[in-house]
Amino acid sequence: MPAINSKTLESCPVWFGGEWRNIAGVATTPVHNPSTGDVIAEAPLCTAAHVNEAVEAAAGAFPAWMETPPVERARILFKFKMLLEENFDDLVRSNTREHGKTLVESRGDVKRGIEMVEFACGVPSLLMGEVLENIARGIDCESIRQPLGVCVGITPFNFPAMVPLWMYPVAIACGNSFVLKPSEKVPLTSIRIAKLLEKAGLPKGVLNIVHGGRECVDALLTHPKVKAISFVGSTPVARHIYETGTKHGKRVQSNGGAKNFVLLMPDADIDNSVRGVIEAAFGCAGERCMAGSTAVVVGGAEKTVLPTLVEATKRIKVGPTDRDPQPDMGAVITRQHRDRVLQLIEAGVKEGAKIPADGRGVKVSEAPNGFFVGATILDRVQLGMTVAKEEIFGPVLNVMHMEDLDAAIELANKSPFGNGASIFTRNGKAAREFKHRIQCGMVGINIGVPASMAWFPFNGWNDSFFGDLHMQGREGVQFFTQLKVTTSRWFSYGEGDIWHREHKQDAHRTCRMGEERNSG
Ligand code: NAD
Repeated sequence: MPAINSKTLESCPVWFGGEWRNIAGVATTPVHNPSTGDVIAEAPLCTAAHVNEAVEAAAGAFPAWMETPPVERARILFKFKMLLEENFDDLVRSNTREHGKTLVESRGDVKRGIEMVEFACGVPSLLMGEVLENIARGIDCESIRQPLGVCVGITPFNFPAMVPLWMYPVAIACGNSFVLKPSEKVPLTSIRIAKLLEKAGLPKGVLNIVHGGRECVDALLTHPKVKAISFVGSTPVARHIYETGTKHGKRVQSNGGAKNFVLLMPDADIDNSVRGVIEAAFGCAGERCMAGSTAVVVGGAEKTVLPTLVEATKRIKVGPTDRDPQPDMGAVITRQHRDRVLQLIEAGVKEGAKIPADGRGVKVSEAPNGFFVGATILDRVQLGMTVAKEEIFGPVLNVMHMEDLDAAIELANKSPFGNGASIFTRNGKAAREFKHRIQCGMVGINIGVPASMAWFPFNGWNDSFFGDLHMQGREGVQFFTQLKVTTSRWFSYGEGDIWHREHKQDAHRTCRMGEERNSG
């Protein structure tokens, strides 16, 4: 096991009230470079007292930030976007270094995050309310959107750049202040990105960063000054966050895990569908909540698509991503996670699955301590098997066989999750049936399970989402704001000489008619 070299450790400071600070005297947890197994930083496990400091800093910054005109807030975000682009390569490398995904995948991760900032830059339009003149005679009604106060984001390890950016750019654009708790496994990219937002001119305390695990999260969930919680992570934790947060009176949006199905119809274009499934199953080493982790081979696709899929899987080259040349696939996040994935593959084989592509014994000579698992296919998986029930979150594709489209849709709909599903077919009617009947929130047709882009909600259903308003798109703006509806009537008396006598009488009459109408 590689030794820890404290001289090369990157610092992992908190950010409270505009001050970057290294926390001493608390337990820490290692941040690894999964390609080499080296420890690259130690993340502090902050306590409830640290959380309180972060929340108080956010609460202190809120009143002035709320009064900052949305156009001014948007101008800071425009600068932030520019800085993200100028520092793109640095962010991509940082993302790959602490996560292990390839540079191409990290580019996607950072780019998707930047798109969220682009969306948030439109906040003056996004915040516009509605007005109806003469809701009754002489009475007008308007709705406006106001920020909530201190909002919190708790994020997973698998998209170090993108997932935090799903949350705070929109939250702060809407006038809230924010406390981010990034994954303790990948806190470094979040710190780099926040430093760019600081440089863009964000006032002190509007965004704060705290690090840690359960103690820190529970303190955030129960803090009386926190108004809303955005969470992304595994389903058991997502459920806990939703239940605890709502019990303490917070607004909560909580994204959970998933198992996503990809249907391969007998008429599917072989090359395009194989490419789509390979990307969906093995992109980011399968560590995606939108991973296409189960391929359902329908009817004759068993003979057409499946053999090509197995061959393509065997060709996937796994290796370290922190150097050139880049492999096709990187390591998984930790040694423990690698061991868990290997145990699940083992369980699949023991419970009767075939293993036409076996990534268990993969050797990476140039990085012997990296956390690697080779791309694996488990064929003939049955619903009752452990690998069919658990989210593996690694480079493992389950293959199931069904006779026809009806049976395949029925199978997919038995999943308790509901993030995404895809179909590959040349038949419009089959695609239409699938789109209509599949029980999940993000659907792909001749495309690997598609994560919706910034302008649309990231739309999990069932056990993949707990809450009412999703992240991204207009739902994100609704989540981070509360509506205020004002009904107003103005009387003409007491307005001095600016009214003519006749006008005054008219206005008086109009108001009385309005009163009569309202009293009914
Ligand atoms: P995780 O649930 O272990 O951790 C997520 C966050 O919760 C981290 O910040 C962690 O510190 C915190 N946490 C962990 N255990 C906790 C506990 N018991 N109490 C309170 N807080 C706790 O998830 P992960 O392993 O970091 O990420 C992978 C999971 O995230 C997968 O299940 C994946 O499907 C899911 N995910 C979902 C989406 C989505 O949008 N639906 C997107 C990305 C990842």
